[in-house]
Amino acid sequence: MSIGRIRPAVTGLPPYRPGKAAEQAEAEHGIRDAVKLASNENPYQPIPEVVQAMQDAATGVNRYADHRATALRGAIGEWIGVSEHQVAIGCGSVGLLQQLFLTYVDAGDQVVSPWRSFEAYPIFTQLMGAEFVEVPLVAHRFDLEAVADAVTPATKLVLLATPNNPTGTAVSTAELHALVTALPADVMVVVDEAYREFLDPAFGDPVRDLVPEFANVVVTRTLSKAFGLAGARTGYLVGHPDVVTEVDKTLVPFAVNAVAQAGALAAVCNAGAYEPAIERLVSERTRVVAALTGAGWTLPDSQANFVYLDLGERTLDVCVELERHGVVTRPFADEGLRVTIGTPEENDKFLRALGDVGSNG
Ligand SMILES: *Cc1c(COP(=O)(O)O)cnc(C)c1O
Repeated sequence: MSIGRIRPAVTGLPPYRPGKAAEQAEAEHGIRDAVKLASNENPYQPIPEVVQAMQDAATGVNRYADHRATALRGAIGEWIGVSEHQVAIGCGSVGLLQQLFLTYVDAGDQVVSPWRSFEAYPIFTQLMGAEFVEVPLVAHRFDLEAVADAVTPATKLVLLATPNNPTGTAVSTAELHALVTALPADVMVVVDEAYREFLDPAFGDPVRDLVPEFANVVVTRTLSKAFGLAGARTGYLVGHPDVVTEVDKTLVPFAVNAVAQAGALAAVCNAGAYEPAIERLVSERTRVVAALTGAGWTLPDSQANFVYLDLGERTLDVCVELERHGVVTRPFADEGLRVTIGTPEENDKFLRALGDVGSNG
């Protein structure tokens, strides 16, 4: 039933479907001890300093938080070597992506992105009444020349998730530099680095390699993945100060709550303490990829905390079978399955389950 005069952009939109919870899979299949490898979460809890800072902040939530998250901007600027005026804070990097849409995209505009990529991109595009222009992946990788060719005078944003979700493939800042050079200077290029911390540094750093030269490049990053704060919702954007000023206007008042700000600040101030866990996840990724390759799978080169199985039409069948074996993954029907790297035990459970399901390559 349609109550009130709902915008067609909303009635046409399917409800957002988050990754399935382990509890739901257990109920559906009558099993126990299911593991969730469906949402690219960090399997490790935040470090004690972060938990303590969040507990301390909880006693102050009768007051509004600092809307601008000033201390966090300063700490992130210092951490990554940019001015605090180049940093925006949002409710997850998804919140910042939505702010970029609110800042730049009107009905009838175009948004260009390689596809398949992050689910939120076409949803936000549709919400604005704009057109999402998909540039097909080639062998699971971005075709940046085709991206450049897809840009028209109606294009406002080019969205590039690198490493890409769900394929895990990355592009180098040299490749991005060539793309941005070829684009009109009034097209905003968003480099979505939600998985930056898992990336081989040889791919370069867009904050260092692109942002100083191109005012139309912004980089979004998050505390959700490598820093294990997915449930707290804090992301940041790095770009030209004038871009930050405009994007800031679209932040829902106090969207980044006091507990989240305190946790993010403690994480950034103790960033080095996360390195062992990040290295563990990367070496687990290497181990999982080696096991799968040894079993006959051909995988795209994942630079993130997940792997992608190109299963085509078998995707949903394999996904359900894995769930019956207690492993919850993220299917993209008729395309492939995204499997998050978890603890060594969780990864072993996945590898065993996939072996039992008996479908490879
Ligand atoms: C997980 C993810 C995000 C954002 O997550 P937040 O929790 O909103 O910071 C952004 N982009 C991509 C590609 C992701 O996979």
